Amino acid sequence: MIDPFGRHISYLRVSVTDRCDFRCVYCMAEDMNFLPKAEILSLEELDRLCSVFVRRGVRKLRLTGGEPLVRRNVMTLVRSLGRHLQSGDLDELTLTTNGSQLARFADELRDCGVRRINVSVDTLDADKFAAITRWGKLETVLQGLAAAKRAGIAVKINTVALKGVNDDEFDRLVGWAGDEGFDLTFIEVMPMGDIGGPARLDQYLPVSLLRARLEKGWTLADSDYQTGGPARYVTVGETGRRIGFITPLTHNFCESCNRVRLTCTGTLYMCLGQEDAADLRAPLRQSESDAPLDAAIDEAIGRKPKGHDFIIDRRHQQPAVSRHMSVTGG
Ligand code: SAM
Ligand code: SF4
Repeated sequence: MIDPFGRHISYLRVSVTDRCDFRCVYCMAEDMNFLPKAEILSLEELDRLCSVFVRRGVRKLRLTGGEPLVRRNVMTLVRSLGRHLQSGDLDELTLTTNGSQLARFADELRDCGVRRINVSVDTLDADKFAAITRWGKLETVLQGLAAAKRAGIAVKINTVALKGVNDDEFDRLVGWAGDEGFDLTFIEVMPMGDIGGPARLDQYLPVSLLRARLEKGWTLADSDYQTGGPARYVTVGETGRRIGFITPLTHNFCESCNRVRLTCTGTLYMCLGQEDAADLRAPLRQSESDAPLDAAIDEAIGRKPKGHDFIIDRRHQQPAVSRHMSVTGG
């Protein structure tokens, strides 16, 4: 799959559910309306769709959500997708999770071929954690992280930089990640979905500022490490671990974009920051043959846009993209 700008599409992110057991303040409103169950693809359908993408050249699959590990029987999907690792058709099967269910699933994930996961932790303060996630408990996530470590799964922590919320903890997070052997990525808050509550402009903290602040206490060396994602990495001299910075608003990372995103209803988004999408559920259900699906995918990749246009400033207080991150999976 090659798009009109010559980019090879080799990375598929799949939101397996829009539901979640947390209600992070920057991601969801507390009283979120979720998609009706009838619209959601079955695990078998998700498997079939992912497998078509693997046949078409996708080498990396990331399951996300919502919270992927709260979808009922999700491990049957993980196990079945693991067959593509065994056959060599897929290089990596991974997931992004809030960690709430990791203690339960870490061993099984490892068993299915998952070698790396991203876990979101915005703070190491239990009260703050409860305030940010509304429904989450830090202790449960830390137990999940310990289980992942024991299972031999490499962990990268995702931290959303939130002005006035966790910006006094960046040094502590870097030190903790170093001690635990985790990589760490800081993410700027993105204008996605109506979240009710605090204005995003108030939460927005450019990671360039954050980096400058970290440089006062840590030796950061630029690294050419690339994961095919939008993060720029540095290595921390004192801990030997990597830190990534994701700057979707202040930086354009679109030239090297190799990814597309699939929602749990079978909608394919060619860009996180654009509304344009293609329905793959109809062609999926139309026939047992994959021909209609292949045609729909070709058509969709043929209109992958050059880049996003996120804007966050005083004139644009409305979300630049109306869907929530939990729909497209971040
Ligand atoms: N529930 C899982 C989790 O939290 O890791 C997976 C889905 S979550 C939508 C994926 C990532 O998106 C998380 O790291 C989360 O912090 C991040 N995220 C959610 N809303 C965001 C926003 N508005 N701006 C920036 N990052 C966001
Ligand atoms: Fe749930 Fe992840 Fe969104 Fe938090 S960021 S509400 S854990 S989907």
